[in-house]
Amino acid sequence: MNFSPGEKFITPRSGEQQQLDVAIEATHCELCPRRCGVNRQAGRLGFCKAGSQAQVFRYGAHPGEEPPISGTRGSGAVFFSRCTLRCLYCQNYPWSQEGEGETYSVEELAGIFRRLREEGCHNWNLISPTPWLAMIVPALAQAGRDGKRLPVVYNTSGFERVATIGVLRGIADVYLTDLRYSRRDTALAGSEEPAYVELARSALLEMWRQVGPLRCDEQGLAVSGVICRLLILPGHADEARENLEWLAATVGTGIALSVMAQYIPAYRAVQSKPWSRRISREEFQAVWRKVESLGFSQGWIQDYESLTNERLVGFNFRPRRK
Ligand code: SF4
Repeated sequence: MNFSPGEKFITPRSGEQQQLDVAIEATHCELCPRRCGVNRQAGRLGFCKAGSQAQVFRYGAHPGEEPPISGTRGSGAVFFSRCTLRCLYCQNYPWSQEGEGETYSVEELAGIFRRLREEGCHNWNLISPTPWLAMIVPALAQAGRDGKRLPVVYNTSGFERVATIGVLRGIADVYLTDLRYSRRDTALAGSEEPAYVELARSALLEMWRQVGPLRCDEQGLAVSGVICRLLILPGHADEARENLEWLAATVGTGIALSVMAQYIPAYRAVQSKPWSRRISREEFQAVWRKVESLGFSQGWIQDYESLTNERLVGFNFRPRRK
């Protein structure tokens, strides 16, 4: 479905009518910091090569997110195709970079959300959604029109415009966002985007202003708030530590963290040092010591020793000492 300029829709959260001129974004795309300005409805492609219909690689109940996101029945994950970044170690490159996936109309996308809800998933987990917001937002509204909405998890690399995040107020409940780098030259080497550091930090602050600390229901499932993911990168564990210092000084130690040790060299990283190896135990432990010394109180850390599968191993910052 195409939608016309100025179309109004009901936000699934509160039923309040909210006007978002979503068509502007589709015809002059400035959804992400690249601000390509292309008319995607007319077939023009920007940096991410996203077209005029939402593209999804796969969807279904996902057990591998952080415990309050995956719960017992799984997160209702929708893996969107295309990406606004070009990370040389991307594990999802077949669909993020090479565009695998099927196209869906807004009605069909709403059907996916309804199906995930009917299957018992705890939330709608939008994975790399940014290029598709002009389709996702009305699809969420349609899926929630019967009053049965799920918490919306906005699962992002962090490479976002503050203005776009601002539009998501009242739509996104939980932000699952990355801080990958603290230095421009590493951001350039890893993701071809030196401005990532400032942009991801600014976006996180806007998310924090909107939804604040993580709140869970009585079952321990995320209802709202920010979870910051810190993927420890080989040769750059010091940057994860610097981001922890930035978080502690700027947002505070009440933010929920997800410290990720799962990096494996994929895509173009297999030919490029230091990206061509997994992180060492020493790098992992150095980041962990920083989490403890700064006094962060909430979050999860992947168990370095058991990262042979895709599941996150979650516990409340009581790591096994090796
Ligand atoms: S979402 Fe894609 S087309 Fe739109 S500004 Fe970003 S990279 Fe460009």
